[in-house]
Amino acid sequence: MSIDNPVSDFMQRDLLQCAPQTPVGEAAERMREARCGSIVVMAGGVPVGIWTESDALMGDWRAAGDLEQPISAFMKSPVRTVGPNVTLGEASRRFRQERVRHLLVVDEAGRHLGMISETDVVRHQGVAFFLHARRVSSVLHNAPLCVDAGLSFDQLRQMMVERQHDAVVVRRGEELGIVTPRDVIGVLAARRVEILAGELASFPLQVIRHDATLFQARDQFAQNRIRHLGVVDEGGALVGLLSFRDILDSVEHEYVHDLLTQLERQTSSLKLSQRQIARQASLTEAILNALPINVFVKDESGRLIVANEMVAQTFGRPLSEIIGRSNDELLPSDMASVLNADDARVRAGKETLIREEQLDDGRILLAQKRLVEVDGLAYLIGVSMDVTDWKRADALMVSSHHILQLIAAGESLPVILDALCRQMETHLPGALCSILLLDEDGIHLRHGAAPHLPLEYSRSIDGAAIGENAGSCGTAVHRREQVIVEDIASSPLWDDYRSLAETYGLRACWSTPFLSSARRVLGTFAIYYRQPRRPNPREQSAIAHAARLASIAVERWRQIDELRRLATTDPLTGLFNRSQFMTAAEAELRRSERFDHVLSVLMADLDHFKRINDRFGHAAGDEALRLFCDILRRETRSVDLTGRLGGEEFAVVLPETGREDALQVAERLRAAVEAASFVFQGGAPIRFTVSLGAAVRQPGDTLDSLLARADRALYAAKNGGRNRVESD
Ligand code: GH3
Ligand code: MG
Ligand code: MG
Repeated sequence: MSIDNPVSDFMQRDLLQCAPQTPVGEAAERMREARCGSIVVMAGGVPVGIWTESDALMGDWRAAGDLEQPISAFMKSPVRTVGPNVTLGEASRRFRQERVRHLLVVDEAGRHLGMISETDVVRHQGVAFFLHARRVSSVLHNAPLCVDAGLSFDQLRQMMVERQHDAVVVRRGEELGIVTPRDVIGVLAARRVEILAGELASFPLQVIRHDATLFQARDQFAQNRIRHLGVVDEGGALVGLLSFRDILDSVEHEYVHDLLTQLERQTSSLKLSQRQIARQASLTEAILNALPINVFVKDESGRLIVANEMVAQTFGRPLSEIIGRSNDELLPSDMASVLNADDARVRAGKETLIREEQLDDGRILLAQKRLVEVDGLAYLIGVSMDVTDWKRADALMVSSHHILQLIAAGESLPVILDALCRQMETHLPGALCSILLLDEDGIHLRHGAAPHLPLEYSRSIDGAAIGENAGSCGTAVHRREQVIVEDIASSPLWDDYRSLAETYGLRACWSTPFLSSARRVLGTFAIYYRQPRRPNPREQSAIAHAARLASIAVERWRQIDELRRLATTDPLTGLFNRSQFMTAAEAELRRSERFDHVLSVLMADLDHFKRINDRFGHAAGDEALRLFCDILRRETRSVDLTGRLGGEEFAVVLPETGREDALQVAERLRAAVEAASFVFQGGAPIRFTVSLGAAVRQPGDTLDSLLARADRALYAAKNGGRNRVESD
């Protein structure tokens, strides 16, 4: 048993009771018989009051008939009660605070269940150890109240009340006796209010030594069923009166002290843990707010109960406006319904959901949601982060990949540049992209691509010269640096082009030159807008990206072009080399066959060319070859195919040309060569001649058979004395 047990474990169930109209004297009789310190007054099965020994002590019973008065006139009302579940410790505190000795135990409906008295408390408080440890002398307060045997009952009673002593020692000669409240009850029960102290007192006074323990005192109280003991010293002299109440008080004192200590200990550890919890909470909050991601928790009704600072930033609203709200209250309705469906899926399937969420301003969040149960409640915990920049970078990478693929596949430059402009326009809404290429002359810009600029505008600037104040592009290429014109209307760079731009509603133009790996300007990547504006950092990086791709495309295309030229032309003369000539001639022959058109070929071989080399050196021979080439170009049409088949041997395909015309061309060539001369290293003019053979396509001719016939004619011309023309 401990002080934490409920009073129902200790209470006395048999109550001494009487009706309200019971005469006081009769009630006292019953109490005496039952050796009970109190009587409960019941009316209709409900306790309405209590009358106790101390009440008996307080009353003035001298008037005749007082003891026949109904008890209801003297009882204390209402009765102090406790619930059956109140702990013994709590009941003990109430005895002390309210200075009562009895508490009625009642149920919730007020029905009495029993009575708990302070005696029960001392008996059951588990304080044996404590009672062993203390001596009787330690709880003695005042000297005992001693009276003579001749004192009247009423004087005795009044003295007890005034001095607040609940027992009095009565001296009868050498003998000591005692009067207690129980004796007062006895007087009333016997209706002997005229009795004297000596007659009333119990002799002898039971005593205990002052150095006995309280435990021994308690035993003595219990064995003799008394409530007071005289305390004597070693010599047997009376030094005090110990009441059962004194034990209770000291126990109470000890108990309360112990309780307070425990309470203090608990309070301080509570404060400590509160501080720890508070510190933990602020640390958690600080961590949440330091995270560069949105973290939120929704309760079962879908309301946000936790959100970190990032959420406030993402929504552009203070947390106070966010916490406690639902999707419907925070988001546009279409988005809210999508998210509600997601949340429902997470709750229903208890699955973790990962998905991209598009905000109404175009930003993209990558969100992960899952359900977490805490104390039987399901919370939806969400984490999301703004991946807009990543997505854009990713999209830019995909675009780059596409453009690089086009470059690698050898797609033509206009196609690549066009694709590049279109891709960039998808990344930069509202932008009109343009690429201008720097002409080989290094001073003019040529149209590269501009899929969405007005065609007329593109045509107008095609061929524009670079320089200061030559619009954004001309100036950028001239300066070899980016030129940002926020508003064409007010930029002096656009003085010469302003009206042109205005005609087509162009207001802003940012031009970024792109360079080859050898730092030569290849062209410029430009972005036009129809409103004045400046690029933001994201746009700048996209532009840098585009300019890099443009330079790769142009540079690579130029390299390929050069390779192709090297592979198909003769480096000395710039004419088709043999293989390229044969390929092109074959195609031309096919075409003439398909349409059944005439076609002729010429074979030419310089006469005694070896002699030029021998007399003037190889370089002079090369010069002669170049001169012949110039003549060949001059004397043939652009549709004619010319090629150097080897050494000083050339061939010409003349489409739509019959024998007569072919011979005329050949003759013109021969005459021109004969008439020409060149000076080598300041020497005398050097002259040379050429022999030519012509052949006309016959049905069933292959290129070889046709060329072979022209070659035979050439051979005939050589044999015929050179510097002449023969045909098949
Ligand atoms: P013929 O009138 O019979 O054609 O006499 P030829 O000397 O022109 O004929 P041949 O075939 O004997 O000599 C051709 C010479 O052309 C031999 C070669 O050294 C020279 N030659 C071939 N290619 C080049 C070249 O690229 N540059 C120079 N300088 N000489 C070349
Ligand atoms: Mg030859
Ligand atoms: Mg020759």
